[in-house]
Amino acid sequence: MTRILFFNTLSRQKEEFRPIEDGVVKMYTCGPTVYDYAHIGNFRAYVFEDILHRFLEYAGYRVTRVMNITDIDDKTIAGAIREGVSLNQYTEKYIKAFFEDMDCLKLKKATYFPRATQHISEMVSLIKTLIEKGHAYEKNGSIYFKISSFPGYGKLSHYDFENLLTTNTDADEYEKDQARDFALWKATKDEPFFWDTEIGRGRPGWHIECSAMSMKYLGETFDIHTGGVDNIFPHHENEIAQSEAATGKKFVNYWLHCAHLLVDGEKMSKSKGNFYTLRDLLKKGYHPSGIRYLLMTTHYRDPLNFTEQSLKQAENTVKHIQAFYQRISFALNNEGNSNQVIEKYINEASEGFVGALSDDLNMSLAMSEVFKFMHSVNEICERTKISGSDAKRIIGFLEKINEVIAVIESVETLPDEFVNLIKKREQARREKNFALADRIRSTLAESGIILEDTPYGTRWIRK
Ligand code: AMP
Ligand code: ZN
Repeated sequence: MTRILFFNTLSRQKEEFRPIEDGVVKMYTCGPTVYDYAHIGNFRAYVFEDILHRFLEYAGYRVTRVMNITDIDDKTIAGAIREGVSLNQYTEKYIKAFFEDMDCLKLKKATYFPRATQHISEMVSLIKTLIEKGHAYEKNGSIYFKISSFPGYGKLSHYDFENLLTTNTDADEYEKDQARDFALWKATKDEPFFWDTEIGRGRPGWHIECSAMSMKYLGETFDIHTGGVDNIFPHHENEIAQSEAATGKKFVNYWLHCAHLLVDGEKMSKSKGNFYTLRDLLKKGYHPSGIRYLLMTTHYRDPLNFTEQSLKQAENTVKHIQAFYQRISFALNNEGNSNQVIEKYINEASEGFVGALSDDLNMSLAMSEVFKFMHSVNEICERTKISGSDAKRIIGFLEKINEVIAVIESVETLPDEFVNLIKKREQARREKNFALADRIRSTLAESGIILEDTPYGTRWIRK
């Protein structure tokens, strides 16, 4: 199997990826809080995770992936109260929208999408274990994790906790806990949404859901955990503390975090109001594949400043790749022998593509290998007509890499009777029987297929 390196936030260096079980990867992604539509900053994280997921499969691994849905927190509760509906009624709309947005950006589905509200009993039993082992305590009906009981606290964020113990984080509302003991369970006062459980009446804190749900579906130790850099502290640091304190085992082997999507140098976020949802951009006429391309091509650990100008450039690049794919498809029925040089180019491009992604998902380098390849093939096409068998190989390569990049739309293939007519017409043209060639052109036109003769062969479009 290909040797893959990932930058592990835990060790702050690139490490060779070795899964616990040969050929299998278990991966957890912190998913959306479903109180509103996700913005494209969130989607930068989900696109990075999608590339990771797709590349691991491309490299031959079987991936089991969990993405949680945070459907209980201050914001979903506030929304449900505002609209006078149940929590489920309120979040359902945004869960549906999230799945639609995922499809639109060609994000692969996780194996499981567990919802916090459906895993209360798993969280309660984890909290009970933490109390029994002396890592958690009760105060006014709420239950807190005792940070001083877990000496490893801080190993992910590499923070200086002497200072942080008295500092507030400035993150979103559900992260308001201070960097001292954090809430595992919040006693309910006047809220309408609560659960009556063995540990009292209340609702879970945010962090516990990810420990409970990841371990339920992936085991006590699993391979990869991902999120945006804002998740490192306190969320992921707390996940490690809760999970390792409860099991006594290492929670996760590789932690991968993406840098933020910025607007004018600031993190795109709901609270700053400097955000676009996917829907905003589609309404402005942008194409999903351009948005996906823009979000995936800057290295995931480098901040990416969003501008509409860069989105337009990304769209043009995708159009350029698509046009290349289409032109080569039109050559699929060409006669002629294979060209060894094309095979060599394909091998070099495949190796370059995999090599770049194996080095901590270097997508911009991987794409530059693809552009180099397209350029070389275009040069051949200018000199000679490529054969159908070469076109087939090139298409095979593009479709293979599209399993990772997912920005090329497949081109419709014509039924055999039409393909045969096009071939017959090409033969007629070679024999200078233009009357027959024109008759065939008209016959196809009657079926809504318009022909155009190009240096790459005859291309067709639907009327
Ligand atoms: P949230 O719904 O706020 O929990 O965020 C969901 C995911 O989006 C998390 O992995 C965050 O780290 C990530 N995220 C939020 N804002 C941005 C941003 N501007 N750029 C990149 N990732 C982000
Ligand atoms: Zn999480």
